[in-house]
Amino acid sequence: MTDSRPDGSPDPALVFFCESRVMIDLRRRRPCRLDRAQAGELLNQARASVRLEDASGRLLEAVAIERFRPRQRIPDADFEPLRGIAAELDSESWQLLARSHSLLEWQRAHRYCGSCGHPTEALDGGHRRRCSNRDCGRLDFPRTDPAVIMRITHEDRLLLGRQPTWPEQRRSVLAGFVHPGESAEEAVVREVHEESGIQVDPASLSWFGSQHWPFPGSLMLAFTARAQGGEPHPRDGELARVDWWTRTELKAALEADRIALPGQRSVARTLIDEWIKGDGLHDNGLTQGRNNR
Ligand SMILES: [Zn+2]
Repeated sequence: MTDSRPDGSPDPALVFFCESRVMIDLRRRRPCRLDRAQAGELLNQARASVRLEDASGRLLEAVAIERFRPRQRIPDADFEPLRGIAAELDSESWQLLARSHSLLEWQRAHRYCGSCGHPTEALDGGHRRRCSNRDCGRLDFPRTDPAVIMRITHEDRLLLGRQPTWPEQRRSVLAGFVHPGESAEEAVVREVHEESGIQVDPASLSWFGSQHWPFPGSLMLAFTARAQGGEPHPRDGELARVDWWTRTELKAALEADRIALPGQRSVARTLIDEWIKGDGLHDNGLTQGRNNR
């Protein structure tokens, strides 16, 4: 198994995706980079691909296959959920895989023209799609959906919620998509009120940082803000539970494994961890460079 294409070779290294899973080298716990001979029959199952450059300028082709047939197994390799292995990956690998996954998912969702319904075809190494209907010719470009994620506090308490589909112990800060016609700041105030009934003090809103989130393609815009008080309760069905937690309660629940927080790679986790630490920066959001965490 190669780690990169041979120097001088015009062929990009191949990284395979199957739905939200990526093929990893089980011994090294890193994404497999295969050449065409190693990939073999897997290439026959390709439904989409996209070409990218890694941070060293090496060409890479991310390939999405329909399904993984065990008889075509690559030695010491298997598909594992990208979300599940995120915390194991170095920053560069994570960013490359996250970008690949978003682009492949965008391709999957844009196989047909949104104007006339004809099939589309990939151009520019998978970074554009064009309608095959000559009378239309509509071009589609990869999109990213803005979403807000916010750490809402009131005195020494943090607002955490659980979505109905999550395991019983899982909690996170509140989040939601920005609606057409509103600013990110307006989305924070609206989402918190819709999901929990809590009113945010708009004057307390502070920028925290942003993060691309590839499930399937969101730009998470993170804020901190203070609430005007009150007791939270689920209002719009987005949350099954929503509660205030003091630092003492949260630390005790973590030590006793009574609560599960988002993965280390997420800005949600950074927002929560920094509040638990109480490092003095957390309430005014005067922080930079968190988007690579
Ligand atoms: Zn069209």
